[in-house]
Amino acid sequence: MKHNFGAGPCVLPQEVFKQAAQAVLDFNDTGLSILEISHRAPEFVAVMDEAISLVKELLHVPAGYSVLFLQGGASMQFAMVPYNLLPEGKKASYLDTGVWSKKAIAEAKLFGEVAVVASSKDQNYTYIPKEFTVDNDSVYLHFTSNNTIFGTEFTNYPKTNVPLVCDMSSDIFSREINVADFDLIYAGAQKNIGPAGATVVIVKDELLGKTGRAIPSMMDYQKHIEAESMYNTPPVFSVFVSMLNLRWLKSKGGVAEIAKENVAKAKALYDEIDRNPLFKGTTAKEDRSNMSVCFVMENPELEKPFLKYAEEKGCIGIKGHRSVGGFRASLYNALPITSVHVLVDAMQEFAEKHA
Ligand SMILES: *Cc1c(COP(=O)(O)O)cnc(C)c1O
Repeated sequence: MKHNFGAGPCVLPQEVFKQAAQAVLDFNDTGLSILEISHRAPEFVAVMDEAISLVKELLHVPAGYSVLFLQGGASMQFAMVPYNLLPEGKKASYLDTGVWSKKAIAEAKLFGEVAVVASSKDQNYTYIPKEFTVDNDSVYLHFTSNNTIFGTEFTNYPKTNVPLVCDMSSDIFSREINVADFDLIYAGAQKNIGPAGATVVIVKDELLGKTGRAIPSMMDYQKHIEAESMYNTPPVFSVFVSMLNLRWLKSKGGVAEIAKENVAKAKALYDEIDRNPLFKGTTAKEDRSNMSVCFVMENPELEKPFLKYAEEKGCIGIKGHRSVGGFRASLYNALPITSVHVLVDAMQEFAEKHA
């Protein structure tokens, strides 16, 4: 049995894989595969509708917001956000908390002025900056809620008097949020929603249409809202499997319930990292991510042998990103706590062998 700690694409529930496999052969008794069915067929329109409704229901999205399933990944949103929100000659503020923030900042600079109001680059992004001021003339403040590569996560979201835009790619649906605190949220599906290919965007309608700029249709949120995420052929299979996974999440009791499990999973692993003399965490304790757990070994020479040992126990995808080294265990919703226990046991057994 494999325990998939990969950062993305992510582990999904076995029952979702089974339902997806069945639909590849025969989707909803249509006699057609989900891979060949028309995206305009009523059966698929129903899938898109249910996927959007489930996002709204599971996150308690209030009235006045639209939910979209788009393409291009979170990386496309790095450009789409300023394209749609940042008028020429105006300023947007960004928090620089890691690789993904940095990429979002680079894209925004193509559209207007960017103020980086805080950065944790000075300590290789191992903490979340907490003191910063956002100028009132900023069109929005952008931040990354979970820094997938460096293993830090905002416990408290920034409080500002300008619209708040969040890249929530790697912790959306992992914890309860108050959508009304945000003006735009986006997330690539492949971290906690479904397979790669779809991107979820939740946008406050009144934010749009204010730049005075002509926007190409595929980059225009308004066009996608009007077309109900069907402006062009949507990523049918990715939306379908995302819908199945959101159904699974609902059957588990929703975000509030999965959040408790996610806290328990992260605690089990961090407790071992702190207890076991061979290992140490790489981030400030108060900013530790519940989704992306980064750690290294006191003796770097043991890292390769431990990686091999963990892989023999079925733990896959724990090699750290090259900018941090060591290990990263991603604990997305569908990863059971029993998988965390297998990793913790491997750490303990390895420590006994190398005591
Ligand atoms: C993975 C990731 C991205 C990039 O996502 P793509 O869908 O591959 O473009 C952006 N932001 C965060 C926080 C991520 O974890």
